[in-house]
Amino acid sequence: MPSAISQFIHPALDRQGVSDEMRHLMITPYREIKFGLPIVDHEGGMKLYTGFRVQHNHSRGPFKGGLRFHPDVDLDHFRDLASVMTWKCALVDIPFGGAKGGINCNPRDLNQQEMEVLTKRFVERLDEMLGPDHDIPAPDMGTGPQEMAWILEARSQDHGFEPGTVTGKPLQLFGSEGRTQATGHGVAFVTRWACEDSNIDIQDASIAIQGFGNVGSYTAQFLHDFGARVVAISDKDGGLYHPEGLDIPEILQVRQQPHEKLRLNELAVSAEQITNEELLTLDVDVLIPAAVEAVINEENVEDIQARLIVEAANIPVTCEADQRLEERGIPVIPDILANAGGVTVSYLEWVQNRQRYSWKEEKVNHILEETLHQAWNHLTSYAREEQISRRLAAYTIGTQRVREAIQLRGF
Ligand code: GLU
Repeated sequence: MPSAISQFIHPALDRQGVSDEMRHLMITPYREIKFGLPIVDHEGGMKLYTGFRVQHNHSRGPFKGGLRFHPDVDLDHFRDLASVMTWKCALVDIPFGGAKGGINCNPRDLNQQEMEVLTKRFVERLDEMLGPDHDIPAPDMGTGPQEMAWILEARSQDHGFEPGTVTGKPLQLFGSEGRTQATGHGVAFVTRWACEDSNIDIQDASIAIQGFGNVGSYTAQFLHDFGARVVAISDKDGGLYHPEGLDIPEILQVRQQPHEKLRLNELAVSAEQITNEELLTLDVDVLIPAAVEAVINEENVEDIQARLIVEAANIPVTCEADQRLEERGIPVIPDILANAGGVTVSYLEWVQNRQRYSWKEEKVNHILEETLHQAWNHLTSYAREEQISRRLAAYTIGTQRVREAIQLRGF
């Protein structure tokens, strides 16, 4: 089966008349690594995990991309996600290439000490392949500022103090203001512009968000602040629906206070309970998949009723479903723009680290908005001129920048 991402890339390369060899080079990762990670578990026995890092392309700058700790990941998964990072960084025009990696594990089954050992061992294994000018990890699903702090420590042992080695760090350890919220913040900006473009008034727009982790929850918060009605949210066990709009600040407060891991459908707030499948097919203005891949697919695409889809997750819509949505006239704002806020502020964190200086949150947020807005304008005007989908426009712009970099550098 062709990889999900190559089905999006080929049409963009076709438009540029790219040769078979160049096509192959652009799709094939620079390097992929898979390794065993044994640790002593909390019962004193040995437990073996598998670690991965796929470095896709570094013609426009060091490899860049998150670390995912999740029970479903494998090499094929990371190959696609690393490639997404390459086109994302090129589209928003930041000087990074693409990578992705992580560990096949369930973070809920690991205690704090096991997480620390696994994370540090992962870094030791990759050793010379990482570094601020080589490959810079960041958070993704199942990881956050704490894991990034451990990475910094593991690298400092042999390489000295270099905070630009990893992004998404805690603020106390040279993280950037605005980074934790950045992906959701970016999704909210892009949703606002996309609503304007589709003649949907954001002040009255009904929005359903699937996934309530870092990305989904901050997206909900910022959209709520913009005046939108967030009518449905969900986590992997199900969700909440209120046609008049959920009280997002209350939900965030209740959830964060006593037990962070409380399921949404266990919260004592006034709302109906719904399943994930029901959320995806709600009659809303905007649907924002903010969890895992392929949630909108051949099975449910005909039931989608939203007027606009904004991809906060990576690759949440399959290629087949994407074609059907286009035929049905439902615009999709592609992941490589919609969720690029995270890596954009990672870049700003890296710049601050290398200057040994830190900026105020206002400045970070201002550059974030400006960077995404520039990419949004470029993308939408190109799509309009060429009469193509935003997805195809995004991939054409991204792949063209990478192809030019490869050709200028030579082989
Ligand atoms: N994991 C995020 C993404 O998929 C951020 C990556 C980064 O900041 O390097 O875009």
